[in-house]
Amino acid sequence: MMGLELADNIAAVRRNIADAALAAGRDPGAIRLVAVSKGVDAATIQRAAGLGLTDFGENRVQEGRTKRPVIQEAVTWHFIGHLQSNKVKYVLGQYAMLHSLDRMSLARELSKRLERQRLELDCLVQVNVAREAVKHGLEPDRALPFVDAVRRLPGICVVGLMTIPPFSEDAEASRPHYRGLRLLAHEIAARQWPGVGMDQLSMGMSGDYPVAIAEGATMVRVGSALFRGDDR
Ligand SMILES: *Cc1c(COP(=O)(O)O)cnc(C)c1O
Repeated sequence: MMGLELADNIAAVRRNIADAALAAGRDPGAIRLVAVSKGVDAATIQRAAGLGLTDFGENRVQEGRTKRPVIQEAVTWHFIGHLQSNKVKYVLGQYAMLHSLDRMSLARELSKRLERQRLELDCLVQVNVAREAVKHGLEPDRALPFVDAVRRLPGICVVGLMTIPPFSEDAEASRPHYRGLRLLAHEIAARQWPGVGMDQLSMGMSGDYPVAIAEGATMVRVGSALFRGDDR
C-alpha cells in the first residue's frame, strides 16, 4: 500500500470523526481511533504509526505475536478479538486493553494470571446487543450481573462496554445497537460500583463509525477504511 494513500485514508477518517463529534456536540479529542491492523503487515503498521496513529487493534493472538515486536514506535495495542482462555498468557503485559471480555471462564483465567503477575488489565465487557446467535458477547440482560461478578476478581479493571452490530450495508441499521450499548452502560454506571468504570464505549467500524460517535462511542475500531489498498 502506498504511503500517500495511507496518509489520505488516515486524514479522511480523522476528518469524519471530527465532523461526527462536532455534529453531536462532542469534543473530537474525546474519541480514540483504534486502527484495526488485522491482516496488515508490520511495515504498513509501522508507516501508519509514523503518520501519527497511536492505537492499534489485533484480533488474533498469533498474528499479534509475530507483528508487534517488529514495530519500533511506542504504540498502544488493543486486543479486540475473541480470546480463548488458553491464550490469555500471550495477551497479559502485551496489550493495554481487552475489548472482548465476554464470559466468566475467561475472566477467572485472566484474573488468576493477572494476580500471579501482579498486573492489572483494562477490560471492556463485550455485549451482543442484537442477540445474534452466531456472535460472541453477553446477552444484554447478562451484562449487569456479569460486571457485578467480575468486579470482585483481582486484576481486572472493567472500564466500559464493547459491541459488534450485525453486518449491514446501511450504517443507520447499527444505531439502535449502539444506542442500546450506551443505555446499558448508563444502567451499570448508576450502580456506582467501586472500581467499575463505564466511561468507555468501544463501538463503530469502517461502515458506521460516524453513527457510533453520534451515539456516544469513545473508541472506534476502524480497519478497512484506513488500510484498504491495492495490496490487501
Ligand atoms: C475487523 C474488526 C473491526 C474493523 O472492521 P472494519 O470494517 O475493517 O473497519 C472492528 N472490530 C472488530 C472486533 C474486528 O474484528
